[in-house]
Amino acid sequence: MADAIIRMKDVNKWYGKFHVLRNINLDVAQGERIVVCGPSGSGKSTLIRCINRLEEHQKGQIIVDGTEITNDLRDVEAIRREVGMVFQHFNLFPHLTVLENLTIGPIWVLKTPKAEAEARAMKYLERVRISEQALKFPGQLSGGQQQRVAIARSLCMDPKIMLFDEPTSALDPEMVKEVLDVMIGLAEESGMTMLCVTHEMGFARKVADRVIFMDRGEIIEQNTPDAFFDDPQNERTKLFLSQIL
Ligand code: ADP
Ligand code: MG
Repeated sequence: MADAIIRMKDVNKWYGKFHVLRNINLDVAQGERIVVCGPSGSGKSTLIRCINRLEEHQKGQIIVDGTEITNDLRDVEAIRREVGMVFQHFNLFPHLTVLENLTIGPIWVLKTPKAEAEARAMKYLERVRISEQALKFPGQLSGGQQQRVAIARSLCMDPKIMLFDEPTSALDPEMVKEVLDVMIGLAEESGMTMLCVTHEMGFARKVADRVIFMDRGEIIEQNTPDAFFDDPQNERTKLFLSQIL
């Protein structure tokens, strides 16, 4: 793929003796939206965490926007500035207000002047429809609201790529939709490259260009969402889909 913004070539990773990623080959085009699914323990989180070096791979190559991930910390820092990540458990700073959660990175890392950082933060809080909560602390918000704040916080760093690791799986069912709606809006309005680990099929069908199925550390099957869900080819994919649908 000529215009790939993420290239993973024969990537392998072990936790001790446990071979968690096996010969992963994955090119992600600029602006592409990918949903990653698969059974628990199949290596989905590890795969996306390797893209911003939250986990280290031992073999193969990962190149993000032209920079290969190596032990060179300057490269890792450069890549982390381009890659935002949203986790299952929000990971907001509990002792900072919502607004401060959004401005601390831009002010300290990007050296953005405070007033400008706050103006941008308010813009993103409006985008995730939560600007009226700007002066509250995370603990005063619902799970769905906290996750929307976490998404806005990532966007404030102006990433080129967003990684989502099961962003709705810790939420009460009635809050899942408000977070998915924000993610759908982001996909439709921004043209951002997105990799999202999720089993939300409605989201995948609406947003994904490609669905990737992992099992036991390997990419087993990938396809457009409609083909993937309606006509899975591999037996393991069929078994997995029969369990989540
Ligand atoms: P998934 O996100 O698909 O559920 P993970 O990438 O979290 O899978 O984990 C894949 C496998 O690696 C699991 O068997 C898990 O127990 C194991 N694993 C994850 N993190 C570690 C770690 N830090 N040390 C050892 N084993 C780990
Ligand atoms: Mg996981």
